[in-house]
Amino acid sequence: MISRKSDTDGDKPAPRHPIAVNTKARVAVVGAGVSGLTCAVLLAEHGFTTSILAEQIGDRTDSAAAAAIWFPYDVEPAEAVIPWALIAYGRFQELARDPSTGVSMVEMRTFSRVGPIAPPNWAQAFAPRVLAGREIPAAFVSGFSIRVPLIETNKYLDYLQTRAIDAGVSIQDGLHFENLEEIEDRFDLVVNCSGIGAQRLVPDPAIEPHRGQVAIVAKFDLPYAVVCDDPPLMYAIPRSRDCVLGGTNDVSDDRAADSDATARIVTECQRVLGFAAPAILAEHVGLRPSRKGGVRVAMEKLRGGRVVIHNYGHGGAGFTLSWGCAQTVFELAQNAV
Ligand SMILES: Cc1cc2nc3c(=O)[nH]c(=O)nc-3n(C[C@H](O)[C@H](O)[C@H](O)COP(=O)(O)OP(=O)(O)OC[C@H]3O[C@@H](n4cnc5c(N)ncnc54)[C@H](O)[C@@H]3O)c2cc1C
Repeated sequence: MISRKSDTDGDKPAPRHPIAVNTKARVAVVGAGVSGLTCAVLLAEHGFTTSILAEQIGDRTDSAAAAAIWFPYDVEPAEAVIPWALIAYGRFQELARDPSTGVSMVEMRTFSRVGPIAPPNWAQAFAPRVLAGREIPAAFVSGFSIRVPLIETNKYLDYLQTRAIDAGVSIQDGLHFENLEEIEDRFDLVVNCSGIGAQRLVPDPAIEPHRGQVAIVAKFDLPYAVVCDDPPLMYAIPRSRDCVLGGTNDVSDDRAADSDATARIVTECQRVLGFAAPAILAEHVGLRPSRKGGVRVAMEKLRGGRVVIHNYGHGGAGFTLSWGCAQTVFELAQNAV
């Protein structure tokens, strides 16, 4: 497994580097999905006076619709994404030691319907294994297994929110900004974690909503997560109390659940995995904040000279990249104030 010196040591992490942070610097983090909450935790725990300003928080954000399994899906560019994802993998591995975080380590089996697939080179430390024989359901032709973090979004977003508050972060919701210049002058620095909202807030026309729908069903016997990206996109992820079945990925900003899509998702998962019709507990829809040109973690100056650090465009991998991108945001913030 990846071996990294961690920032976290128990619940109260010590700074990774002996750093001289300007503790009086006041940071406004826009957004309270996984990106905003993670950045706020890291910044506050390293001494920044941090506030979250957001329209919606935690379980009302697009982040709450995610499964979420650690895997760099529907996101680019690979050369930036993989290092961020590996940082987050290490952090989630540590969090998995405490069940109250909602993070655990699970086997993920990835299958192809069309041809041979093998574990990616960057997954060599994750107990990779090529699947064979009866391990491959009849619907597929090949597959591999790796060990990855599973992040139960409902529990984990609550955990992050509590950890942020414990670190002194103030959180204000119900705020909608038309542009980043609207944020009060009392903040020295702005961190923009607005997900799909960046399309209008920045504005950034490169953002594209990749709508995803999942069905939450009663828990059935599934000892590992199953994923297949070949159409039709299919995944089944066992959580502590239920299973998440997916999925869809269409360019659309429609957040209404479509019962026909739920039926198609459940039928395909049943066909592949051969389980009895499950009770459907909920349907969730979220918009993956995809971005042509890839994830944007970058600093720029707003009109008037104040610095903004952007952190958006994580597509289908916002949890997978969260701690890695937050680390880059933190390093940029140190240089900005
Ligand atoms: C069905 C589905 C399954 C997924 N599965 C996975 C998975 O298994 N693994 C994984 O890593 N990722 C997964 N994802 C992707 C992941 O959910 C996203 O990449 C991630 O949630 C993006 O988080 P975010 O914090 O950047 O954005 P969001 O969660 O969208 O949060 C944006 C925040 O900004 C605020 N905001 C936006 N605009 C404004 C404004 N103008 N003024 C004030 N506030 C504003 C919002 O209110 C919100 O608080 C999945 C997504 C979907 C939809």
